[in-house]
Amino acid sequence: MENTTIAAIATPPGKGGIAIIRLSGPMAQELLEKVFVPSSHKNAFESHFLMYGKAVDQGQMIDECMAVIMKAPRSYTREDVAEIHLHGGEYVTSVLLHALWGLGAKPAQPGEFTKRAFLNGRVDLSRAEAVMQIIEASGKMAAKAAIRDLKGGASAFINKAQEELTDILAGVAASLDYPEEIAEEEAVAGLLPRVKRLSGQLLAACDERSARMLEKGMEVAIVGRPNVGKSSLLNCLLEEQRAIVTDEAGTTRDIVRGSTVLDGLRINFSDTAGIRQSNQKVEQIGIELAKQSMQTADLVLAVFDRGISMTQEDSEILRLAKEHPYLLVLNKSDLPNKPEWPNGLSISTKTGEGIEELKTAIRNIAGQPGEGELSLLRHMHLARQAASSLSEAADSMEIAEPFDLVAIHLHEALYALGEVTGEQVTDALLDKIFLNFCVGK
Ligand code: GDP
Repeated sequence: MENTTIAAIATPPGKGGIAIIRLSGPMAQELLEKVFVPSSHKNAFESHFLMYGKAVDQGQMIDECMAVIMKAPRSYTREDVAEIHLHGGEYVTSVLLHALWGLGAKPAQPGEFTKRAFLNGRVDLSRAEAVMQIIEASGKMAAKAAIRDLKGGASAFINKAQEELTDILAGVAASLDYPEEIAEEEAVAGLLPRVKRLSGQLLAACDERSARMLEKGMEVAIVGRPNVGKSSLLNCLLEEQRAIVTDEAGTTRDIVRGSTVLDGLRINFSDTAGIRQSNQKVEQIGIELAKQSMQTADLVLAVFDRGISMTQEDSEILRLAKEHPYLLVLNKSDLPNKPEWPNGLSISTKTGEGIEELKTAIRNIAGQPGEGELSLLRHMHLARQAASSLSEAADSMEIAEPFDLVAIHLHEALYALGEVTGEQVTDALLDKIFLNFCVGK
């Protein structure tokens, strides 16, 4: 248990209906009693009892408020926790927080409340990370996956893998300890298929594309020649005037970005410079950016003006787009159409025709991310590491290397899995994870 008491504002900065100051540590109650005067003595400072009263700084009333003390271990951190619910003004909140700091509380570091919950054994690391994911979640899908992890989804999967691995290691150890009774070949016959199966299960749980989409959103690059309507399409998709639309070719030179949520999933669109052979330096840079954004995109929207005939450049763009997951978008369907275009989604950013169908097509390509066993990139990275140690163990077994070598690989795999749940974790890694949290959580 920590012997310091930390304090922070737990609600977002700025004006709000309520602002909450949170304290955790052995002095939580003592500090609360110094800054809060309950209106009634009945049940005053009883654990988990919400009190009404006034917040004071050096005897002066600064706000009317509610306060609660949650005695250890029945609290978020398993320490004594106090919360003071003030009116949301920034000034009052900051006065009270400074008063608490003056009385001996320490400013909380980002994520320190959750870190204490982890250090005190209330949550494992993957659940602590889920708390952060829930705070950060920008769409329903991401929130759903985070809540599953908070309920222990990732932990359950990893714990099962750890159990199987420990069992395999026990088999290896038995053969090492009693070579006369359990011959290595015999042990290999029993253990090798299990090692391979476990490695396969861990790899199958690593859908990085889906994890990235949940954490950051789906990246959609809009590409096409100048004037085909890319900026207009971006505005249509975002339902706002984000990109500047003009009819002078080559105006969109930088990448314009915008995000929206489609059916629970965040989609990040980027409208790139028109791909066009050009001697102009700025446009040249734009073309490079467009090619780059295609490289990192989950989906390319290749946009063409179906009112004019397909040009050499159009076919080049189509060729480039075909190297990625792409949708062929034929814009300006409201104008008389040239018939020779290949099949694609016919839209008009002017009349709105085909826009809903386009959104559905984008959403279908994204699929249902977050249905797998793991949902965080950090966990997948470790699961892959474990799978690779397991396949080294399997290789070792296949070429009949001594069992102590096999055991080393298996231990490496076990260590990597322990880093998911936090059993094996360095202070540096903990700091790195919790510093991404916000202060007050
Ligand atoms: P970008 O250079 O590809 O980003 O193209 P813009 O979005 O700037 O559009 C170029 C021109 O085409 C503008 O004058 C738009 O008003 C026009 N435009 C865009 N979409 C449509 C459409 O669906 N129908 C018609 N008729 N004009 C459009």
